[in-house]
Amino acid sequence: MMVGQCLCGEIRISVRAHADAVSACHCSLCRTWSGTIWMGLEAAPDAVTVEGTPRSYRSSSFAERAFCPTCGTQLWLRDDDGPYELMPGLFPGSKSIPLTREVYADRTFAWAALAGEHTRVSATEYERKYPFVEGDQP
Ligand SMILES: [Zn+2]
Ligand SMILES: [Zn+2]
Repeated sequence: MMVGQCLCGEIRISVRAHADAVSACHCSLCRTWSGTIWMGLEAAPDAVTVEGTPRSYRSSSFAERAFCPTCGTQLWLRDDDGPYELMPGLFPGSKSIPLTREVYADRTFAWAALAGEHTRVSATEYERKYPFVEGDQP
């Protein structure tokens, strides 16, 4: 069980089970929302309990991004009917979970390229498989 909360404590998230993998995304939506790099830790909907009332913003036709309405802490990105992609930084216990995948790796700021042996997926490769991320600008 992993428990995390936003800066002000209004939103508290308990996670009973999650992937042993963190992924990063450098697409323009994630870059804008996060300030630089979005990171996600996947957890099934039935493994996540949220206390408090987050707000969410529909950032595309297929996904929403949730945040605390009081302090603005980013909480998750979630495709419709998909798993939670939780922000790992909410959970002190997530520090040892490895980064396994970096998406839009060719769109990052030069100083924000992530080191290590993980899968790197370019914008072209990603959009070949998931063409729904349209409107992304380099
Ligand atoms: Zn808050
Ligand atoms: Zn993204």
